[in-house]
Amino acid sequence: MAAMGTNILAIAGGVGGAKLALGLSRVLAPSELTVVVNTGDDETFHGLHVSPDLDTVMYALAGMTNPDTGWGIRGDTFRTLEALGRLGAETWFRLGDADLATHVRRTELLRAGRSLSEVTRELTAHLGIAHAVVPMSDERVRTVALTDDGELAFQEYFVRRGCEPRITGVRFDGAETARPSPAFAEALESSDAIVFCPSNPIVSIGPVLAVPGVREAIERFGGPRIAVSPIVGGKALRGPAAKMMAELGDEVSCAGVARRYAGVCDALVIDTVDAAEAPAIEALGVRALVTSTVMETDDDKDALARDVVGFVEGWRHGRGAIHRALPRTRASRRG
Ligand code: GDP
Ligand code: CA
Repeated sequence: MAAMGTNILAIAGGVGGAKLALGLSRVLAPSELTVVVNTGDDETFHGLHVSPDLDTVMYALAGMTNPDTGWGIRGDTFRTLEALGRLGAETWFRLGDADLATHVRRTELLRAGRSLSEVTRELTAHLGIAHAVVPMSDERVRTVALTDDGELAFQEYFVRRGCEPRITGVRFDGAETARPSPAFAEALESSDAIVFCPSNPIVSIGPVLAVPGVREAIERFGGPRIAVSPIVGGKALRGPAAKMMAELGDEVSCAGVARRYAGVCDALVIDTVDAAEAPAIEALGVRALVTSTVMETDDDKDALARDVVGFVEGWRHGRGAIHRALPRTRASRRG
């Protein structure tokens, strides 16, 4: 697609976020896109700094993703993890052999005193990624799940316990003293639009909004702020977003997502199967934009990215209003 000089700041978590981020990277020039990624999931395993969401986005933009999972590296093997297990190490967090190289290199560069932003720039450059992928913060922020079973570090809750404990809340340790990363702060000032990728609103977008100054900057942001709903047909396409929303008392629907993003979002992109929810969303003061939002193939990712960029262009060139796109059905898109 012809680039139109629109600078987009996209905010992403892992698997859902990476899909739209990949689409956006294919329809926007490197100068037109900054992808800001959640680091609340970061954890130390085997002495190595693992940034699961940054890795998922990096591998997606580098064309390396394991298509069966949406995370990790295609064709990766797990011999090192098996060997670590034989030595008594915990192996519930799956780290592939090639994936481990990312964590070894990241940890080495961090220990040499480089910031997570600098390290990420270095890793993405070596992976041939032309677009900016940046951590939300260079300071340590750690998501903690408050559950029926006590407080759990995010990966303990998410991976080890499979999100089975009921959550009563989440906390972002370290957020109070964190700052947005330099490229994030710069993008908040200079971008024309903000796009919330279809990521988990509670534990992927939530930590980003918890970094001091971010919510305020987005509230007063001058351009369109558009979110893509991760809830489709009353369910999360994968992962625990629906379960977590229900446990926290949200309605599990696109309107429930719109309510969570009230104040930071002007429009919510919802799937054609949820078109009937548009009036309820608009009653919350959020425009509802209807299109196909399920991204199975790379063509799906490009098509949704093109729609999102179209909504942004419509807003910027359309007298302050977003033109409602003609609903794009899955069938017509493939045709
Ligand atoms: P995580 O960090 O790996 O858990 O990933 P994210 O937070 O970025 O994404 C998880 C969310 O992505 C889930 O709530 C899914 O419903 C949503 N999701 C995954 N694939 C798609 C898709 O193709 N379309 C939409 N609209 N949402 C998706
Ligand atoms: Ca994540």
